[in-house]
Amino acid sequence: MLILVTNDDGINAPGLKALSLALASLGKVAVVAPERERSAIGHGITMHKPLRITEVPWEKPLGKGLAVNGTPADCVKLALDALLDEPPALVVSGINWGENVGTDVLYSGTVSGAIEGCINGRPSLAVSLVGEKELDFTFAACFTARLAREIIRRGLPAGTLLNVNIPCLPEEEIKGIAITRLGRRRYTNTVNRRLDPRGRAYYWLAGQKEDLDQGPETDIGAVSRGMISLTPLQLDLTHYAFQEKLRAYLPYLWPDQGNKYR
Ligand code: MN
Repeated sequence: MLILVTNDDGINAPGLKALSLALASLGKVAVVAPERERSAIGHGITMHKPLRITEVPWEKPLGKGLAVNGTPADCVKLALDALLDEPPALVVSGINWGENVGTDVLYSGTVSGAIEGCINGRPSLAVSLVGEKELDFTFAACFTARLAREIIRRGLPAGTLLNVNIPCLPEEEIKGIAITRLGRRRYTNTVNRRLDPRGRAYYWLAGQKEDLDQGPETDIGAVSRGMISLTPLQLDLTHYAFQEKLRAYLPYLWPDQGNKYR
């Protein structure tokens, strides 16, 4: 039984190391991760340059990890199609340095690693540690191994992955586990305009968080209360309920085509 581990913080990230060693208690673990940090890369893939792999030494029992000059989605594609001897029973992406909640999952390289596993029909988890500095991955890694064992045993529905956010607290201070939905977060004042030494403008993306939907049933609400958040995500983004209403636009879009629009 093989587990594939990737991340978006890069091959040297402490969360990747802690995760891979914790999962080694369940079976064989293969680490295939970006050679440098690719946070907020979303689901980007590399199509216009060659991908290369470098072996890096890793703690026992793994012995080695593989660093790729690409994105988390590249790493999972490469691993599944070219590098692994057997299909993994599980793909785990993380443990990310910092939360991945609400709308931010659409930018997240961590979540995209798991999405790529899910697209390829493997049960997949994205795991993030909530906090900003001095992060200790010990409990999060231990909890992820517990969760991974259950997912391997019970599976996930097709087209579904799990997005997991774990507060950076000692086990006894964690308030419990919440099954959540995505909250809604956006950033205000995101574009910071500055001048370079030659007087030309440049722009830096930053901004302040603005949580528009952070109720107790959301991932944002759960982690703010010190709970572990488990959000089942699906690949199908279709808004089914709106399909019928959208039909009412059609006569105005192509009025002379009779029954052509359906
Ligand atoms: Mn990251």
